[in-house]
Amino acid sequence: MKAVRSEQEFQNILRRLGLALDASQIGVWEHDTQANEVVWDLQMHRLYGTGREEKHVKGEVWTQAIHPDDLEHAQADFDKAIATKGAYQSEYRIILPSGEIRYLRSRAHCFEEDGNITFLGAEWDVTADVLLNRELQRQKAIAETRAVELEASTQRIEHAAQHDYLTGLPNRRFFDRRLVELSNDQAVEKLAILHIGLDRFKQVNDTAGHSVGDDVLKSAASRIVAALPKSAFVARMGGDEFAALISNFSSIDDLKTVAERLAQQLKQSVWHKDEVLRISASIGLASAHGRNVTELLAEADIALHRAKKLGRGRVEIFSTQMKAQLNNERRLAKQFARGLEKGEFIPYYQAQVDARSRRIVGVEVLARWNHPKRGLLLPGEFLGVASSLGMLDDLDAAILKAALKDRKSWLRQGVRVPRIAVNVSAARLSDPLLIDELHQLEVEPGTLAFELLETIFLDDTEDSVFSNVAALKELGIDIEIDDFGSGHASIIGLMKLKPSRLKIDRQLVMPITTSREQKRLLRSIVEIAKALNIEVVAEGVETLEHAKLLTRLGCDVLQGCAIAYPVSAGDILARLAETQAEAFVEHP
Ligand code: C2E
Ligand code: CA
Ligand code: CA
Repeated sequence: MKAVRSEQEFQNILRRLGLALDASQIGVWEHDTQANEVVWDLQMHRLYGTGREEKHVKGEVWTQAIHPDDLEHAQADFDKAIATKGAYQSEYRIILPSGEIRYLRSRAHCFEEDGNITFLGAEWDVTADVLLNRELQRQKAIAETRAVELEASTQRIEHAAQHDYLTGLPNRRFFDRRLVELSNDQAVEKLAILHIGLDRFKQVNDTAGHSVGDDVLKSAASRIVAALPKSAFVARMGGDEFAALISNFSSIDDLKTVAERLAQQLKQSVWHKDEVLRISASIGLASAHGRNVTELLAEADIALHRAKKLGRGRVEIFSTQMKAQLNNERRLAKQFARGLEKGEFIPYYQAQVDARSRRIVGVEVLARWNHPKRGLLLPGEFLGVASSLGMLDDLDAAILKAALKDRKSWLRQGVRVPRIAVNVSAARLSDPLLIDELHQLEVEPGTLAFELLETIFLDDTEDSVFSNVAALKELGIDIEIDDFGSGHASIIGLMKLKPSRLKIDRQLVMPITTSREQKRLLRSIVEIAKALNIEVVAEGVETLEHAKLLTRLGCDVLQGCAIAYPVSAGDILARLAETQAEAFVEHP
């Protein structure tokens, strides 16, 4: 049954459709391709802002309104629809006469009647949609770049937390983590740590400035990385210390070779602007098999300390013996400071005699440590500790004070020692307070001598040393050059000091009874000294044969086991009293 619609009904439908179209603001068009006739409704004119109403419009009205950038694809879409006789759809911008840009979307159906192709289409404004869409896209892109930036900055923060800003190397924290990782890694059988410390870096930093120090560190970092295998994990542990983790190396000896090569490379000069800086590095090496790595870093550190102690610029491999030694030194260092306070360091005295008369002309003061548990210790046991604690000058001061006190007490007992000689370290000699201190001690002029090691006067001696030497002479304190002939100081330089005495090193004294060459050398030294009015003391006189020969060669004073051993204050007092009595007998 077919519903028959009345004319009235059609009119109603048309009217409603018209209202709906009007409300929706959809424009309707028709394009007869054959006749190239275009029909627009009123809404189309409104969309294109023509300000006109006529039904028939020219094709150019459309093409001229389209944004030049969109024209090509708009036309192509239409041509394609004609060619396929299919549905048409397109989207493009138009430019209104006011200059405003509007986005339109167009849809049309194709009708073919007697070979004539006509499109009936609708077109509407999608500007708001497009703009909204575009805004959404923009927001999305912003959100995406923010996410990328956030990721990058998180990575930067993480990187900074695990790396050293100056050298770019992993830092201590990263190193610790990596050490744990490697120790838990089944594939790692052997693990070694190279602990690298730059020698005297603090000095470079203090004298040349921090920016130079920074350059030295950066250059060291790149040399370390370049010298070690690619698989090595190199970190800056802080300050002037670096460490490298090396796994599955072939042998510890191989590693030592690698480390030695590295030490060699670190010894080369660093250029800073137009200054050349000489640095060196000490390296400690420790290795572990299997899981036992907890102590590894501490062990490498011990080896590094040993390397520094043994003269710097060298490589040492950790051993358990080394650890015991270090513990020993640490213990001793602690005891040293306390011992100094408690007066455990006491002077011993070794007599010096006139070569011809064999009468005592003086005593050398030698430090001893009256250790509460270990008994009497020789300087060889504690001078190193004192020096590493920077307390050698304190020791010297304490010994001098004690010796002067002994001397006073002997005088009260009627015994007079002609001269006492004390050993003075470089640290003590360059102490700016030394002279003031000596003033307060009220030393009787001509009764005290300072023995200064020849090595103190190696070529680049500070001026304060020379001015102190001059001040000492003014105080009536004799200057003696100790261990003369052992330190390669320039003889001319030493002579400039005009010392009262040279003490010829026992290394030069010992061979004179067996070597003619050595005897001649000793004779020449004596001759030069005589020419300059400097007395000569021979030390290490171990036999009577030496004593006789040295006397013949012209030495003025003899000191050594053949004459007298170093003894306590009480013993030297007895000896001095005895010889004083003899002297009275001889020369009443
Ligand atoms: P030194 O100044 O060369 O002192 C002489 C050393 O030779 C002393 O060793 C002495 O005991 C030893 N000696 C004496 N006669 C002979 C001998 O015939 N043959 C041999 N082979 N050795 C002999 P000591 O007491 O062990 O002192 C060692 C070094 O320690 C001293 O060498 C001196 O450089 C240093 N020293 C000692 N006391 C002090 C001190 O109070 N302050 C400073 N700074 N250094 C000191
Ligand atoms: Ca000496
Ligand atoms: Ca000596």
